Amino acid sequence: MGYKTTIDKYSGFCGGVIRAIERAEQLVDAGETLYSLGAVVHNNEELLRLGKKGLKVITKDRLNELPPGTKILIRAHGEPLSTYELASKKELELIECTCPVVLQLQKKVRKEYARIHPMGGQIIIFGKPGHAEVDGLTGQVSGNAIVLDHIEDLNGVIFPDGPVSVFSQTTKNPSEYENLCREIRRRIIRQDGDDKRLTVFNTICKQVSGRQARLEAFASAHSIILFISGKESSNGKVLYHICKSVNERSYFIENELDINPEWFRSGDSVGICGATSTPAWLMQAIARNVEQLP
Ligand code: SF4
Repeated sequence: MGYKTTIDKYSGFCGGVIRAIERAEQLVDAGETLYSLGAVVHNNEELLRLGKKGLKVITKDRLNELPPGTKILIRAHGEPLSTYELASKKELELIECTCPVVLQLQKKVRKEYARIHPMGGQIIIFGKPGHAEVDGLTGQVSGNAIVLDHIEDLNGVIFPDGPVSVFSQTTKNPSEYENLCREIRRRIIRQDGDDKRLTVFNTICKQVSGRQARLEAFASAHSIILFISGKESSNGKVLYHICKSVNERSYFIENELDINPEWFRSGDSVGICGATSTPAWLMQAIARNVEQLP
């Protein structure tokens, strides 16, 4: 029997992730020993595939154990300055795969901090605490940044008298970022009478923000949505909630084992989509699986 499926052509790896994975594959296929500093992509299926090819994963606290000259891949999320210092001290060879968009953002955060810090200013980052990209950003300014994951996290934040500069993690939800910045502006105006000391940087990745509107249209156009992503992917969580908000029958799955045949009804058109960390081959495999369901 099976169901008709459509794969969202805008889902799947973003440019930054494609670049990092291609570089990793080039090196391991050439027989090099390569460690990725943290998971190169938040998707277990893809990690298993790369692991079979020989890519190893290492955590920062174990970098000390590696001999000089070992190749370490810096993934698309980027790293704090301290990682580069440690690698240089240990004479490790870094394979730089930080996404160019993230590198630009890191540079802007450093530059802005250098500008406002002497005036008693404050950097604010809208992002998930502990996320690699966010750690990479706060690590540009020795941790001197406030990280806010939700608008509610503003409660209890006391702004200094100096400039306030706000940045977003590249994969955050644009409308949530807008709401957060509006609220910060409101609080500063209440305090000062104007918002002259506030600077907001538009740093959400265009590849991701454009996807959100397109995904909403895709999710509304199908009777049921299978959203494929690793549970660790913060971009995956954001995008899945967008699907769920417009299509109640949206299901978050990691692989075909998570599919429950009871979700489907006769005549369903099944939309298959995923996060920026979801490999195309996995979406295709799920589509084949759904097309063959009894
Ligand atoms: S989401 Fe955008 S900024 Fe982040 S890694 Fe992908 S392309 Fe780069």
